[in-house]
Amino acid sequence: MEMMKEYIEEAEKALLHTYNRYQIVFDKGEGVYLYDLNGKKYLDFCAGIAVFALGYKNEAYNQALKDQIDKVIHTSNYYYNVPAIEAAKKLQKVSGMDRVFFTNSGAEAVEGAIKAARKYGYLKDGQTDHEIIAMEHSFHGRTMGALSITGNPKYREAFQPMIGNIRFATLNDFDSVLSQVTEKTCAIIFETVQGEGGIHPATEEFMKKVKALCEEKDILLILDEIQCGMGRCGSMFAWQKYGIQPDIMTTAKALGCGVPVGAFLMTEKVAENSLVAGDHGTTYGGNPLAASAINKVLDLFEENHIIENVNMVGGYLEKRLDELVEKYDFIETRRGRGLMQGLVFNCPVGNYIQKALDAGLVLINAGTNIIRFIPPLVITKEHVDEMMVILESCLQ
Ligand SMILES: *Cc1c(COP(=O)(O)O)cnc(C)c1O
Repeated sequence: MEMMKEYIEEAEKALLHTYNRYQIVFDKGEGVYLYDLNGKKYLDFCAGIAVFALGYKNEAYNQALKDQIDKVIHTSNYYYNVPAIEAAKKLQKVSGMDRVFFTNSGAEAVEGAIKAARKYGYLKDGQTDHEIIAMEHSFHGRTMGALSITGNPKYREAFQPMIGNIRFATLNDFDSVLSQVTEKTCAIIFETVQGEGGIHPATEEFMKKVKALCEEKDILLILDEIQCGMGRCGSMFAWQKYGIQPDIMTTAKALGCGVPVGAFLMTEKVAENSLVAGDHGTTYGGNPLAASAINKVLDLFEENHIIENVNMVGGYLEKRLDELVEKYDFIETRRGRGLMQGLVFNCPVGNYIQKALDAGLVLINAGTNIIRFIPPLVITKEHVDEMMVILESCLQ
């Protein structure tokens, strides 16, 4: 205990206080378990915030990274590199999108998507006052552009002014979107399943109506798949279950399974009418090490039938969580898709999460009243049962 406490004290003296961290120093991971410095074992239903899809210490993944480290880690985007070419081809194949730009994070992928949309509007009419419609309760990241379209006033307040010409509508309320559309609208952006905002999936009706509106008015549909994508909701990207295609999409989090990467992808139509040489760039984005991570992740998704597993275990997780909704008055409902689930309480969940951590189960919240379940995508039904036993002991 003492060693952990000492490290935490040092951290609080050295790091900027931007997080209220749980009092744990994690040391290593294996499969779906994490271990703290004292060797205490935790079942992980957070996966580093929907990142470690393949679980910890995956040998094939680790070996691919080690091999690339020994070859070359970075060369810059002035030159081509084989891992990035391979990763882009694989992403094209699994997404059905045409063009890829690699970034280092989710927020940067969102920034790129915003720039592409504004450029698309600019090339159409030469105007520089285009508008973007985003959703209330959305989360798109902490950089200024991504923050500007994040529908949480608390996150934005102190950092005003935001980038201009952003309008907010309500997810799953098509009329609210329609009422924000003007002749200046160049894009509509939302998460296919809202993550931080409380696990709200877009309804099929909403998705289809927004898509039709976008086609009618030549507005770009941008879907943020940073949290809900990469298999988590039972298809490679969550939008693929809706029978539509976005014009631009963003991905990150599980894309690199721990190596910091992201990407925004677009259709050929958008690519031909938006960003060109000199418009956008990044020093690290898609470097050989980062791209080799994406390559291996996409290979392992296929080899290990990750999406099949999500559909099987996700259904089971839903069923088990629904039992809790039935059993406890203070649990109101369950929302989610696949292995992205939220349990909605009628009270703050902070105490339950702390109790779970004490009992060796890593859970996180989404807003004050919701426990979020975003485990590694390799979990089994037995892990769900194990989680349920610990969780129930904390609910008593
Ligand atoms: C996490 C997240 C982001 C931001 O990604 P970072 O890598 O933290 O910058 C953007 N959008 C969604 C939906 C996210 O969940």
